[in-house]
Amino acid sequence: MEAKKVAVVGGGLGGLTTAALLARGGCAVTLYERSKHLGGRAQTTDVEGFRFNLGPHALYRAGAGMRVLGRLGVKPRGRVAGESGGSYALRAGRLHTLPRGPVSLLTTDALQLSSKLEMARLLASLRRVDTEPLTHVPMRQWLDTRMSREDGRALVAALVRVATYASDLDALSAEAAVTQVQLALEAGVLYLDDGWAALVDAVAAVAKDAGATLEVSARVEGVVVEQGQVRGLRLSDGSVRAADAVVLAGSPRDVASLLPEDAVLAKEAEEATPIRAATLELGLSRLPRSEALFALGVDGPWYASVHSAYARLGPEGGAMVHVMKYLSPSSPEATEAELEAVMDVLQPGWREVLVARRFRPALVVSHLLPTASTGGLSGRPAPAVPHVAGLFRVGDWVGSEGMLSDASFASAESVERALLRHAGVAPRRLAVGA
Ligand SMILES: Cc1cc2nc3c(=O)[nH]c(=O)nc-3n(C[C@H](O)[C@H](O)[C@H](O)COP(=O)(O)OP(=O)(O)OC[C@H]3O[C@@H](n4cnc5c(N)ncnc54)[C@H](O)[C@@H]3O)c2cc1C
Repeated sequence: MEAKKVAVVGGGLGGLTTAALLARGGCAVTLYERSKHLGGRAQTTDVEGFRFNLGPHALYRAGAGMRVLGRLGVKPRGRVAGESGGSYALRAGRLHTLPRGPVSLLTTDALQLSSKLEMARLLASLRRVDTEPLTHVPMRQWLDTRMSREDGRALVAALVRVATYASDLDALSAEAAVTQVQLALEAGVLYLDDGWAALVDAVAAVAKDAGATLEVSARVEGVVVEQGQVRGLRLSDGSVRAADAVVLAGSPRDVASLLPEDAVLAKEAEEATPIRAATLELGLSRLPRSEALFALGVDGPWYASVHSAYARLGPEGGAMVHVMKYLSPSSPEATEAELEAVMDVLQPGWREVLVARRFRPALVVSHLLPTASTGGLSGRPAPAVPHVAGLFRVGDWVGSEGMLSDASFASAESVERALLRHAGVAPRRLAVGA
């Protein structure tokens, strides 16, 4: 049987994973990426020898990404974050021990005694919480039933922020938030050696080895649909490429723009609220306070983490630090000075050892905040576009599994299941480390 011809639009982790899975399953795959480089938001930039990801990136060890990468034989290299060193709660410009386990919970002055007991109870029971009934429950409401005092609520809200990047707890679905915190508690996260570009390169290599063609500087301008069935793509150079199936791996707006007549896709794009963050990347010749590796804002949406403490991200002896503000409708932007102030508390003297820096006032972390009003993760758009045969999408806003890149990986796997079933090719289980 002739292999099914599949076009993938977008060369981020979602598109590349789709291309790799489908090519290994026997499809003839061509991927089109409009920019000069593959990687999308998982790109890594070299600045003065420091490897800067596009904001702080952490791979959930119990998430869909690790599962799918394992099937592709990709083994991410790096270390589990937070295994050593000082982690702090940042409140009113001061550092307090961040309660991460029974001992730090006892010793921290970040919480009153009654909140410590509630927190201990919550942490002990969280893994067993059934998240299915929580799709339409706002996280704030759920939290209010579990923690009676404001200091405890603020700390849990901070833990939810670091796991989901979402700071609008009134909107965020408790199903999505609790599931993501459970994932973090289950096995923690990895910071990756050489940055997330290493992951991009590894997945791209698998796709190419399996026969996929990866075209960069190739902007797709439209999807060709005839009588409700996908026929191919139109590129910006005017050429048309035939395809039996098209997988769109960009944002909701990218998807809608490729089918401008489609009112359903236009509405989806209009209604998708993104999760955003402001980020400051810093390369230092050394760490002024070697033991201070992590700070999480409790009375404000702040984050700072020394990623190089767990991953190879710069010259020997140097330090690569990510600082971030979680943005929300009530705090939609940040100045560089706000982020610098977080560093002043965690690493006083950092300016004297500064080698490289980069500030981004607003990045899209994920294209869709899973809200209680839209039914959380379960309410996100499905990978298969129901009203156009042969049209699919993948990304961190698609499908009912995972947040952030885990959703991109999981939706790629859903498309594999759908297309290989239609093509009559059974999904292959691949050896880890192959
Ligand atoms: C600050 C920040 C922190 C993050 N932290 C984490 C984290 O800790 N853990 C985690 O798992 N995830 C994290 N993420 C999210 C993660 O980076 C993304 O979920 C993931 O990279 C998305 O991959 P994707 O392929 O779905 O989308 P993208 O990477 O956005 O790729 C889409 C690609 O499609 C291309 N494209 C779009 N339209 C067209 C067209 N018409 N023609 C050709 N090409 C097109 C674009 O150029 C782009 O390259 C973070 C993101 C940010 C910004």
